[in-house]
Amino acid sequence: MTKFIFITGGVVSGLGKGILAASTGALVKARGKRVSMLKFDPYFNIDAGTMSPYQHGEVFVLKDGTETDLDLGHYERFLDQDLTGLSNVTSGQIYSSVISKERKGEYLGATVQMIPHVTNEIKNAIYRLAEQSKADVLVVEIGGTVGDIEGLPFLEAIRQVRLDLKGKGAFYIHTTLVPFLETSGEQKTKPTQHSVRELRSIGIQPDVIVCRSKTPMTHAMRDKVALFCDVGIEGVISLPDLDSIYRVPLFLEEAGFGHILSEFLGYKGEPDLRKWEELSLILSEQKPVLKIGIVGKYVGMKDTYISVIEALKHAALENRADLKIQWIAADKLDEEENFRSLLELDGVIVPGGFDRRGVEGKISAIKIVRENNIPFLGLCLGMQCAVIEFARNVCGLKGANSTEFDPDTPYPVIDLMKGQREIRKKGGTMRLGAYPCRVTPGSKAREAYGLDLVWERHRHRYEVNNDYLDLLGKNGLIVSGTYAKQGLAEIIELPDHPWFVGSQFHPEFTSRPGKPNPLFNFFVKACKRRANENWKN
Ligand code: GLN
Repeated sequence: MTKFIFITGGVVSGLGKGILAASTGALVKARGKRVSMLKFDPYFNIDAGTMSPYQHGEVFVLKDGTETDLDLGHYERFLDQDLTGLSNVTSGQIYSSVISKERKGEYLGATVQMIPHVTNEIKNAIYRLAEQSKADVLVVEIGGTVGDIEGLPFLEAIRQVRLDLKGKGAFYIHTTLVPFLETSGEQKTKPTQHSVRELRSIGIQPDVIVCRSKTPMTHAMRDKVALFCDVGIEGVISLPDLDSIYRVPLFLEEAGFGHILSEFLGYKGEPDLRKWEELSLILSEQKPVLKIGIVGKYVGMKDTYISVIEALKHAALENRADLKIQWIAADKLDEEENFRSLLELDGVIVPGGFDRRGVEGKISAIKIVRENNIPFLGLCLGMQCAVIEFARNVCGLKGANSTEFDPDTPYPVIDLMKGQREIRKKGGTMRLGAYPCRVTPGSKAREAYGLDLVWERHRHRYEVNNDYLDLLGKNGLIVSGTYAKQGLAEIIELPDHPWFVGSQFHPEFTSRPGKPNPLFNFFVKACKRRANENWKN
């Protein structure tokens, strides 16, 4: 029988509910249990694939090609476990399934309603994943904030789960914000009280309240929340801002949350927290700082490139370095000063992206890093830009481009594949998910991976045009990874550069703390070598 842990949020969004959910999963896993995770997103998009990263942050891609909410990235990283599309369910999926069942006559005779038809569909999603994953524990996070109209059916559904289970095996955690008022110099619990009242009016009594705040709460404050919200004081957990999200599991364990989980799970042993303890130790070490530039379109919006940043952090921890990430706005890159600042960096990443904005700036930045031996990692669009730059400036193909940005380019070095050209629908139609990549013996990529065959995740329409591979190769840009079945270039590199590698896939999606993705790991190694040399000089 699967047990369920439900996580809701109140007061404001952006509290790190996803990290809390992921950490909860990790603490359950540390107790030897089989865990799976589910995120409900109360928006009408069928998946996150059609949403702007401006509004919603990164689109995380699962192995099976599902385009999901970025929290799924946290889940996979904290659990060190691959998830499937069953783990991200949106209102769009729920409603479209109810309506299609209605048309098929599956509810024949009934008036189709929010309760029970929509709520049953939501519960089906929960029970389906529980069954398929054979999880001992399923952690379910409800996106949004208590009080949002669109979230109500989900809250009603999770309330019913406790009833379905006859009161046993369902556990509710509510996350809130405890703000600090500068003027009076104190933390305020009133928003938490209101939020819990709202939750209780829907019929959900939280078992645990996790209070997010800048600094730790006092015992008296926790006591107040306990009294007003009808939760024992041990169930009021203060989670202040920490210097790394990878400290959260251990922090929660030590704050007594682990003990509460053990009781709920009927677990008597000691949890295995070695991995989190090791990470915490490395985080606390004194380490050299590497300056890494990210040349992107959405500058300063960390959520847009969250997996890239996390993958960098994993690689930095592995190489015992700290990071100073410098955001470089690709569309402002023509200013000379910006170019000069690139030379001071230890490494540069050009991440993925869509549409032409900023592309010329990315290409110019790549020219600088290529010519100045600055370590470079190109991710998807970043790799495509590297091919364009090389074609133009080394192979002499003036005006070379991707047909995404210049449909009339004389040298379409990046182009649509046949199968993609005919597609009109936008949702879920890119080359998505994990594909096998054969890594070329003797290449830098092969050295990094230490394997001949790797699986990495994709999210793009355009590909390197094979008609130009010979010319690129003759001039020194080699293909060091291919998807053999269709003869597609998956990794490119410059053998004569300290580290100049680009991948058509997104290696950031498979990086985990303690197990950095090899391309990130070796990129950071190269950055550290460059930093060391600069310090010597
Ligand atoms: N826009 C490019 C393509 O569709 C790259 C996509 C990406 O970087 N994820 O191929």
